[in-house]
Amino acid sequence: MASFVCNHVLEKTKSILYVTHDSEGDWQFLCGEDDHTEENIKIISLLQVVELDNTINDLHEMPINVGAKRRKINEKWKPFKISN
Ligand SMILES: [Zn+2]
Repeated sequence: MASFVCNHVLEKTKSILYVTHDSEGDWQFLCGEDDHTEENIKIISLLQVVELDNTINDLHEMPINVGAKRRKINEKWKPFKISN
């Protein structure tokens, strides 16, 4: 299980607004922008993600094949199904 973040999240220039928990059990924590390339994506530990933004603890029971998004950091997460 790995946790992927984009560099915007890692450098705290943007909030985590888009999270997915994929069928492999991997998590992605992204800022929600569409134009990421592989170079934007970094692997860190889940603990580091929580240290960046402890509101992601709200998602810790999120099952695989589910994602969640929000428009702002203090908004409630809106879950959605990941289609393959
Ligand atoms: Zn980003």
